[in-house]
Amino acid sequence: MDATPIWIAGTPEHGTEPLTVTHPYDGSEAGATTHATEEQVERAVAAAAAVAREAASLPAHVRAAALDHVSRRLAERHEEVARLITAENGKPITWARVEVTRAIGTFRWAAEEARRFDAVTQDLSADPGMVGRLALTRRVPLGPVLGISPFNFPLNLVAHKIAPAIAVGAPIVVKPAPATPLSALLLGELLAETDLPAGMVSVIPVPNDRAPGLVADPRLPVVSFTGSVPVGWSIAESVPRKKTVLELGGNAAALVCPDWSSEEDLEWAATRIATFGNYQAGQSCIAVQRVFVAGELYDDLVARVVTKVGALKDGDPSEEDVVVGPLVDLAAAERVESWVGEAVAAGARVLVGGNRYGTAYEPTVLADVPPGAKVSAEEVFGPVLTVSPVSSVDEGFAAINDSRFGLQAGVFTHDVAVAFRAHRELAVGGVIVGDVPSFRADQMAYGGTKDSGAGREGLRAAMEDLTETRVLVLRTT
Ligand code: NAD
Repeated sequence: MDATPIWIAGTPEHGTEPLTVTHPYDGSEAGATTHATEEQVERAVAAAAAVAREAASLPAHVRAAALDHVSRRLAERHEEVARLITAENGKPITWARVEVTRAIGTFRWAAEEARRFDAVTQDLSADPGMVGRLALTRRVPLGPVLGISPFNFPLNLVAHKIAPAIAVGAPIVVKPAPATPLSALLLGELLAETDLPAGMVSVIPVPNDRAPGLVADPRLPVVSFTGSVPVGWSIAESVPRKKTVLELGGNAAALVCPDWSSEEDLEWAATRIATFGNYQAGQSCIAVQRVFVAGELYDDLVARVVTKVGALKDGDPSEEDVVVGPLVDLAAAERVESWVGEAVAAGARVLVGGNRYGTAYEPTVLADVPPGAKVSAEEVFGPVLTVSPVSSVDEGFAAINDSRFGLQAGVFTHDVAVAFRAHRELAVGGVIVGDVPSFRADQMAYGGTKDSGAGREGLRAAMEDLTETRVLVLRTT
């Protein structure tokens, strides 16, 4: 298989060390590329640093046009890109298509935000000592960005690194996940078709043991990282003077409140919980993991969830009707298997699923999970839901907050007062009412509290994180 080029300052190149990409479902070769050599990494970083001033002055229409171009080209190549995602990541083709559609939107939103990322003026004359002074505040890029991305959304989470950087005029060096570099490299190709200056974007696969060198490089003052909790926080601790944006993991919870009780309500909640506990085989940072049901609905709701989870078709992710594919590799599937085994040994009951087949793990629901079991206390990152009764909404909120993570929470209620209380009391980056915590619109602020991270993505929010204010004070008289 011909090696896919890597992108050094907008130019396609090859490294010397091969990187073979394996299809997680059948172990076939999904593609091949190369790791960037030390010399190529050096040129990518040097080019980003060299172009930083020019990038910060790029007119908004140039930044927006480049972003619109990528959005349009992804739309033209939609099916091809979806198949590439399925091949390198193993996610079902129907979900891969959703990811491409989302990435098209991510670039389009970024183009729109670039057009309106404008200075704000303040007339300072409200203060008697400041008459005749005007402050003009503009946001300026903090400098070249190092974007590090995970395997689970190999296209759209790379888009969430690149698009806001371009939107604010910051060069970016992207280091994709070693398991899934191909979609990121495709973005490198599409960006090379634009009028952006050459050093603006590089996409450089490098092995994990060489990533800390990139993180430490002083020419990349911003590190925007999406990935696991320990790696994220170790990066932040290793570069305390840098700006770090950390989008990390969680054990997202959904609470079904007593008022969510009609036939339609219960069917909706059960369908959404079954679907989003298992989509991408649970490999999403906001996949539903812990389900709490308040009051008397528990047995009914759990029975519905179990039926729906049992009906999810798993298997070959290239088949149109398969909704649950494999985990990313055998080690991941074996870890899920061992965590479920530990929980069962400690008293948990398997209501459905509970078996591993190679790299795949069956969609699984566990009840009576003892406190502290890894399947609920840690990020399972597999197709495993835990279900627990709670006596009240208050107890449900306490259960959601009883976690070292805090990405998003789902609260199934019709009661606006409960929704506002959830918003006040849940220690998470986002509360989703009437739905699962897995809801994400790419243009909304998104991120976590506690161990789940620091900083926000979502185009406008990310653009703020990649910039700082610079004030110009003018005398008007
Ligand atoms: P990971 O932490 O293993 O890897 C993420 C990236 O970090 C990869 O590119 C990897 O090569 C790189 N990396 C590894 N060691 C490094 C080091 N020492 N220095 C610098 N970079 C290093 O995560 P993963 O397994 O690819 O992704 C799954 C994790 O990502 C889960 O925890 C998931 O919850 C999280 N995630 C979070 C979000 C979010 O937006 N909050 C979204 C998706 C995934």
